[in-house]
Amino acid sequence: MSVVSGKDLEQLQAHLELQKKLKNPGIIKRKIDKGELLDKIRETLGDCQRCPLSKTRTNLVFGAGDPNARLMFVGEAPGRDEDRAGIPFIGRAGQLLTKIIQAINLTRDQVYIANILKCRPPNNRNPEAEEIESCYPFLLQQITVIQPRIICALGTFAAQTLLETKTPIGRLRGGSHYFDENIRVIPTYHPAFLLRNPNKKRDVWEDMQRVMKLLA
Ligand code: SF4
Repeated sequence: MSVVSGKDLEQLQAHLELQKKLKNPGIIKRKIDKGELLDKIRETLGDCQRCPLSKTRTNLVFGAGDPNARLMFVGEAPGRDEDRAGIPFIGRAGQLLTKIIQAINLTRDQVYIANILKCRPPNNRNPEAEEIESCYPFLLQQITVIQPRIICALGTFAAQTLLETKTPIGRLRGGSHYFDENIRVIPTYHPAFLLRNPNKKRDVWEDMQRVMKLLA
């Protein structure tokens, strides 16, 4: 999926504007600037009605964490608890993600957490193509601003979207993947999947050890 294929001209213009700003190296040097740029993206989203999920959501879940994070976690979409609170990964799966983050000696405040979609699909159904096309450009803008060293893709959907592939997560795990020349992608299982399949914890721990090595 490419940004330029998006239908919404406003999103595309905002993205190009951001790219222009980021070409000026001074603009992202100071901590506050990245926060401000993220705020601008949030402002552009506003009370977003760009896809049908706007009709069923309670709150839009933009993303949370350190705008200067070296590690970013990207999941699929908000669930029920996140939709109610407007904060990513706070339900049972989110609590497990918090433990995973702590296991690599970090806190939620030291990473950035977001999703491919910013609004909850009804009954947590899979995202649809039109929803991704409308929403994903905003995550791309967030990544452009944050410039993490690593994106940990949580689950099939996030990994396949970020890597533009249909390869199953089980085969993506452990491979050498790049979002762009500077940003590595480490695909791993989604914490919700892990809650249902605790036997996969060892695999996720292996992935987190790779994350730690790359961060070091
Ligand atoms: S999912 Fe994204 S594009 Fe759709 S309404 Fe929510 S914020 Fe807008």
